[in-house]
Formats: sequence, C-alpha cells, structure tokens
Amino acid sequence: MLNKVTPNNLDAFWMPFTANRQFKQAPRMFVAAKDMHYTTADGRQVLDGTAGLWCVNAGHCRPKITEAIAQQAGELDYAPAFQMGHPIAFEFANRVVDVAPDGLDHVFFTNSGSESVETALKIALAYHRVKGEGSRFRLIGRERGYHGVNFGGISVGGIVTNRKMFGTLLTGVDHLPHTHLPGKNAFTRGEPEHGVDLADELERIVTLHDASTVAAVIVEPVSGSTGVLVPPKGYLQRLRDICTKHGILLIFDEVITGFGRLGTPFAADYFGVKPDIMVTAKGITNGVIPMGGVFVTSDIHDAFMNGPEHLIEFFHGYTYSGNPIASAAGIATIETYKEEGLLTRGAELASYWEDALHSLKDVRNVIDIRNIGLIGAIELQPIAGSPTKRAFSAFLKAFEKGILIRTTGDIIALSPPLIIEKSHIDQLFGTLRDVLNEIE
Ligand code: PMP
Repeated sequence: MLNKVTPNNLDAFWMPFTANRQFKQAPRMFVAAKDMHYTTADGRQVLDGTAGLWCVNAGHCRPKITEAIAQQAGELDYAPAFQMGHPIAFEFANRVVDVAPDGLDHVFFTNSGSESVETALKIALAYHRVKGEGSRFRLIGRERGYHGVNFGGISVGGIVTNRKMFGTLLTGVDHLPHTHLPGKNAFTRGEPEHGVDLADELERIVTLHDASTVAAVIVEPVSGSTGVLVPPKGYLQRLRDICTKHGILLIFDEVITGFGRLGTPFAADYFGVKPDIMVTAKGITNGVIPMGGVFVTSDIHDAFMNGPEHLIEFFHGYTYSGNPIASAAGIATIETYKEEGLLTRGAELASYWEDALHSLKDVRNVIDIRNIGLIGAIELQPIAGSPTKRAFSAFLKAFEKGILIRTTGDIIALSPPLIIEKSHIDQLFGTLRDVLNEIE
C-alpha cells in the first residue's frame, strides 16, 4: 500500500476537480474507512461529514456489501448485457425499482451520475421521436444546476467554470433561473417561503419557443454541488404542472437526493412530485462500485417497446451496464438500507440536525444556513478579493481537527452517512464552530 507519499510519486495521477499542484505539495490521504470514519495515512480518525462525495449512505466498509462483491467476483465477474443477460442484473433491477417512487417501474443501468444524465436526455429526445413528435428537440436546464461533466450534462447544467472551456456545447438548450434568493430566504429552515413564481419562467421559455419544440426539463430537486439550494415551497409542483400541460418530460436528477438523503427514499417522495424520468447513481451501490440507474415510467418504456419487433429499441448502452459485481453490490446495498431503515432514518434525525446546524447562525462570517433532510450548507462571507479562500481554509482546518467537510465557493456543504448518531452531529458542529472561530 502506498502509505508513504512523496511529491515524486504523485505525478502520474491527474486528479479530478482538484488543484493538483497545490494538493501534491501537501497531500491528504485516506487509507482505510469504517462506518462513520476514515483513517488517514498518518493514522488519524476523521469523521465523514460528507458520506464521501454524497454517496456512502450506509457508511463505510459494510460487511454485507463487501462480501457480496467478493462472492460475485469469484462467481461471474463479467458478462455482457448486449444481447445476453445475467440474472443478477435483472434481480437488481426488480429490487431497486421496488424502492423507487410508484410508477417509475423500469431502470436503465449506467456507471455514474454523468452517464445517467446523458442517458436520461437521450431517452427524452428519442421518446418524442418514437411517439412521432420529433420536433421536440429542446432541453431546458437551470442556472446553478450540476448534472455531471459530460457534454449533455454541462450543456443543461448551469456552472460557468464547467462550461466555459469546452466550446459550443449542445445547441437548443435554455436555462431556468436558479432559485437562490438570499435577500428574502436567508437562514430558512427547510423549504424557503419565497420564489415559487420562479417556476413560471418555464412558461415564458416555452412560449418563446413553442411547446412543440421542447422535449424535457431537467432539475435537481435540491441543488447539491452548487451549495445546497432547497426549492421554494410549491416550486417543483409548479414545474410539474407546466410540463404536464405542454407534454414536456420532467427529469429529476436525484444523484444526490436519492436513496434516503432527505429522509424519504427519493426527493420525489419528499416533495410529492413525480418526474417522468429519474436520474440516480452514488447511493445506488453505497458509492462502493461505480453504477447509476435511470428510472422511467411505463409510458416511456412502452413507447420504445411497442416499435417493430426486430429492431433494437434504443441505440444506447455501456459495456458495464448492469455489471454483475455492481449489481451484487446494489442488491446488498438495498438490503442494508431496508434492514436498517436508512431510506427514512433521515426523517428521525432531521430536526436534531437542523437545530445543530442553525446553532452556528451567530458565528462570525456566517451569512446563510440552509438545510433539508440530512443535508446542510453554511455560507460564509467571502474574503474581499479572495473568493473561496475562507471556505477552503475551513476545509483544511476541519480536516486537521478530524472532520471531513466539503466546500464549493464559499459554501460548506454537509451530507453525512445516514447511519450518523446524535453524538456525531454534536462533534461535527462543535468542531465546525471552533474551525470558524479560528480561521481568518
Ligand atoms: N448529477 C448530480 C446532481 C450530481 O451531484 C453529480 C455528482 N456530484 C452528478 C450528476 C455526476 O455524477 P458522477 O460524478 O457520478 O458522474
């Protein structure tokens, strides 16, 4: 194991979404993990305040999951899912559809959130074609939306740094305004009061282009990566109503919100709003093996299946779609979630979490706090002329003090494993208070 690292042996790995040069001067390494904690290369325990990258919902190195992976690897390591099958992928599909919101009864497997997004956009476009409405080619995303890093995803996404280097992107894409209204909604607990009318922008965009050209709208029910933006009360329902009125598909990107994060199995359950297509990844295998799944309604699925019998219904798929080892990990993950009640456990802890988070309201430099389910965000006043520096200092100081947090801009985002106990919540926010008091 590469426990000892020197600047010389760190060059080969070009790290994703990382300031490589800075990192490699002072690397931070995890070498082991168990339940709520990581172990660092120098033997320290670090409390995982972010479930890895919003994905390790059942906590780390759960024996049921790791054993299922080992067993499957020794039995059927790989088999294609193109014109061939293996039972475990079908079994996993049934198990995972069973916990999905009612009506989203079919799943297309991918290997990541980004691939799930691309798959969802392609399903939406192709669906209208197979229904004889090929004029519907437009896709509508949202400012501050994050939908992974592939071309479709950055096109409908709304993060300038992820878009500006990469040319013209997809054409025929529009964006709704984001829903962040700090002047009106700062320090809201849960869903903000103000901003439902921002959904009416969809009506304006549809009117501009005519509904007959619009294929789909994609949003994260709660934006995660851009700093935890909780939808205003009634907003998602209004988007749903406008989509339904105009025959536009509504896609929820539940890569973060799926699998118990909000205290319900999915955000669609939390808000009582059903999308036509639901994009997932991360928690689908507890983050342990790369996998994603795109859930669709029977209406969408059957539209493809009802074509001429000799044709492949959808010219799309991945070498690893439904990979046997990922499927085994997925089945063990769903069983763990069910046995331990993790898909709803967040609801029991949400108010304790909310109180602990909002207790930081008066700490210096805190300008907003947001939360829903077991997600929280603390927004800091940026240092004049050095945006992101304050939050990044908090990240480094927190790591030093034994907690893992995540930052985006000057926002600290938190999303612990769903097995978290109240004592961990106390430790997390107690340490964070000290961190914020100690940094500049
Ligand atoms: N969509 C959302 C909402 C996400 O948060 C993410 C990842 N954070 C993705 C898509 C992309 O997932 P991946 O990194 O697995 O490609």
